[in-house]
Amino acid sequence: MDIRSYGEEELTEIAEIFGEKSFRGKQLFDWIHGKQAVSFDEMSNLPAGFREKLKETYPISTLKIVDKQVAKSRDTAKYLFALPDGNVIESVWMKYHHGNSVCISSQIGCRMGCTFCASTLMGLERSLTAGEMLSQIYEIQRETGERVSNVIVMGMGEPLDNYDNLVRFIRLISSDKGICISQRNITVSTCGLTERIRDLMKEHFQITLAISLHAPNDEIRKQTMPVAKKHSIEEIFQVCREYFEVTGRRITFEYSMIRGVNDREEHAKELARRCKGQNCHINLIPLNEVKERNCLRSEDSDIQRFKIILEKNRINVTIRREMGSDIDAACGQLRKKFLSRTGKN
Ligand code: SAH
Repeated sequence: MDIRSYGEEELTEIAEIFGEKSFRGKQLFDWIHGKQAVSFDEMSNLPAGFREKLKETYPISTLKIVDKQVAKSRDTAKYLFALPDGNVIESVWMKYHHGNSVCISSQIGCRMGCTFCASTLMGLERSLTAGEMLSQIYEIQRETGERVSNVIVMGMGEPLDNYDNLVRFIRLISSDKGICISQRNITVSTCGLTERIRDLMKEHFQITLAISLHAPNDEIRKQTMPVAKKHSIEEIFQVCREYFEVTGRRITFEYSMIRGVNDREEHAKELARRCKGQNCHINLIPLNEVKERNCLRSEDSDIQRFKIILEKNRINVTIRREMGSDIDAACGQLRKKFLSRTGKN
């Protein structure tokens, strides 16, 4: 495993295994996560022999920027990073008045198969390590010279299909000895793997959980999301109620609006009926059309009508502000283009 994936206790064990005093573990953690060192050579207060041994044993999961697209508005940039094994992943940087957000990938590709999404077109290549998830943020902070205050795990991949690494990542990114991003500023988005949501609530994190709902009923959900054949909306709502009871954190439902599929008046009414009494917030996302998919984006007027119906029913609802739609900022689009261009697909 790459060294960035380890917590302080594990680094202390590693130091001890190499015959070093246990405080070296603390120093190592500070170099890796406090100072975000990119090589062992920088770690000047560690004995040279120890540094050599570490170098031989552990890779540091640094990333190389392959491509960077900046939106005309200058407030969004999309990065295509190469991993040491040659795979490429995407991350998005967004500048808001209240701080900078980074949207990271949790897997290379995805196996969930949603019909409107570009990330899943070529299936799952592999999951990312916790270090590789962290590296996306460390690299963007370094490149922009600005502090990241919000993290969204909404890039390529299904984070709960990479559960152990995700939990490790959340602990490391929110550690007060690392870059210390408040858990309240971390959002994890899932297509609704209910068993894993139950595991996650037991961690008692203060993160925001976002669920990709995208339909008012199971029939419509099954048309676009294969995972709906396994978990019904009712089952998801039940686990969300438990999640809220245990963590006190309100759930966000994401609803990507696809023309003629889930954006009609009756869909809004059905959704409002089902969400009554559910402590939630609904985020309407205008679909990012993906060339390989034949899903169309809803008309703006239909999105507005949908929102008004939900509001009339006292459901908390917002329309996601669109950033970066001129730079292929939809999940998986940049990687897909890169792979086609380089002849890998
Ligand atoms: N696997 C996670 C994270 C995926 S991406 C999940 O399913 O939640 C984050 C959100 O973007 C999800 O709600 C996903 O369904 C949505 N999404 C994917 N492709 C999209 C597209 N082309 N347009 C709009 N939303 C999209």
